[in-house]
Amino acid sequence: MRTMNAGQTERVGAHIAAQLRAGDVLLLSGDLGAGKTVFARGVARGLGISGPVASPTFVLLRCYPGRVPLHHFDLYRLSDTDAFYDAGLADYLGGEAVSLVEWPERCPGAMPGCRLEIRIDYGAGEDERVIAIRGVGGFREVTL
Ligand code: ADP
Ligand code: MG
Repeated sequence: MRTMNAGQTERVGAHIAAQLRAGDVLLLSGDLGAGKTVFARGVARGLGISGPVASPTFVLLRCYPGRVPLHHFDLYRLSDTDAFYDAGLADYLGGEAVSLVEWPERCPGAMPGCRLEIRIDYGAGEDERVIAIRGVGGFREVTL
């Protein structure tokens, strides 16, 4: 689907959040500035998390308490799969939280087979984005 501003992308995130359960892992792909963190903020809102949701770029992971807790990863600065395990991040993936991973391409070997893949691409206009989702590894049906 297409969104024409950040607020719309946030609402798409909230709509997806309403369909999520503890243990779900969402992989968020797209170029810098595509809107991954905006989407993550929407997921947080949909989970009942009301505070600021910033890019966790400099900390790799932020955890937010909520109806279901949210673990928001940003792996942009991670070198590879080994670094993911060395940092102890695997303990925070899945479990009782919803996990949202920006830049999962940094450590493909550490991501679970069952996951919801979300891709955000730039569209034609400056503020236009194209959002696509795909369940992988038996992830149940989720609608945009
Ligand atoms: P990323 O996490 O993918 O690097 P961010 O979510 O941090 O990107 O930033 C996206 C930027 O693009 C924000 O400044 C946001 O306001 C802007 N933007 C403009 N149009 C849209 C849109 N349709 N959806 C999401 N963000 C948008
Ligand atoms: Mg980001």
